Amino acid sequence: MQNCRICGHELETFLSLGQQPIANAFLKKKDLDKPEFMFELAAGFCDSCKMVQLVHTVPKEKLFNEHYAYFSSISKTMEEHFKEFSKELSEKFIEKDNELIIEIGCNDGIMLKNFDKTRLKVLGVEPSSNVAEVARKRGLKVITEFFNTNLTKKIINEKGKAKIIYAANTICHIEALHEVAKGISLLLDEKGVFVFEDPYLIDIIEKNAYDQIYDEHVWYFSVTSLRNLFREYGLIIFDIQKQSTHGGSMRYYVCKDMAYPINNRVINAFKEEKQKGLLSIETYNKFAKEVEKSKEMLVKKLHELKAQNKKICGYAASSKGTVVLNYCNIGKDILDYLQDNTPTKQGLYSPGKHIPIVSPEYFHKNLPDYALLLAWNYAEEIKEKEKDSGVKFIVHIPYVRII
Ligand code: SAH
Ligand code: ZN
Repeated sequence: MQNCRICGHELETFLSLGQQPIANAFLKKKDLDKPEFMFELAAGFCDSCKMVQLVHTVPKEKLFNEHYAYFSSISKTMEEHFKEFSKELSEKFIEKDNELIIEIGCNDGIMLKNFDKTRLKVLGVEPSSNVAEVARKRGLKVITEFFNTNLTKKIINEKGKAKIIYAANTICHIEALHEVAKGISLLLDEKGVFVFEDPYLIDIIEKNAYDQIYDEHVWYFSVTSLRNLFREYGLIIFDIQKQSTHGGSMRYYVCKDMAYPINNRVINAFKEEKQKGLLSIETYNKFAKEVEKSKEMLVKKLHELKAQNKKICGYAASSKGTVVLNYCNIGKDILDYLQDNTPTKQGLYSPGKHIPIVSPEYFHKNLPDYALLLAWNYAEEIKEKEKDSGVKFIVHIPYVRII
């Protein structure tokens, strides 16, 4: 029995996606015969503080290092998303020159590059050195470390307190969440704001998006569970904003004490989360049953297509894809290859199932009849890009369908 990492209460495991490799640990040909690191990918619910979390985690140094596979700027949708929001953030919260803005998990600088470095102090924190290096080449200051309280003190000494601390798709990656909350409460200026966005639990459940569950995502946040954590540190969620990115996310605005008035949206979210059953284990048990059903339907469909001699590939060598392929046992007998536009992934093999990863050029020369869309969160961008190819896309969630 594992305990909740937030409050220590017993965790109830509601879903296991089986033994899984590290989702982003793509393999070189020469390593295909060597054993891979495997762990049980399972999600649990804490009935006391309501936080949904991984049951077993992978040490952070194994995930975030000089080989990190995800370069944020690969997506046009996300480029646009961050560009727009950088304007909004500055307009709403920057009051004078020289204020400090920090991004936790700045990756290749996709967000921070939008801020005016001549007017503001701009700082990134990014432990994965390969992506941090790309941000530095863009002229950004980046500390290659994991965010924690010690680092916070160092930053305060060198640069003072922060007006804006931002993080996208990063806070849910950090197992030491108490450290984060404590660090934020130290680092924030009296009128400072901590704004972060992550995949939202309601979307995961309603979309049956079980492939949001993987090693890097330690946490599956709701407004309720975050409130329970933050209040220990005098931090208040004063506003939220639904986002369509990454299959449905929530953006949280957090401040110290009562620095900003609480928007009604926050109060309504507590009500909605309760009404949708996020506070009780039955909802998660039901979700687990639907996930199992979704898997069976996908496998059945793929076997039907193979029986008709259809050629199928996977579209995107994503972390989500690793989860789906390993959980549903989809291998080289079904998918000829995975196409991916990240150059560093091309020529490698997928974790666990060892499906070769090829370039978009290869894909266009060797078009399949069907492509299993392993990045359904970019469905619009991808459909538009491939509209002349004639390839039909298979989407596996909530239940298998051809689009
Ligand atoms: N913000 C970007 C990147 C998200 S990927 C975007 O939304 O596209 C998550 C990033 O968080 C990775 O670059 C990873 O290296 C970084 N990260 C993981 N743990 C971290 C920690 N403890 N502190 C700071 N960054 C972390
Ligand atoms: Zn708990």
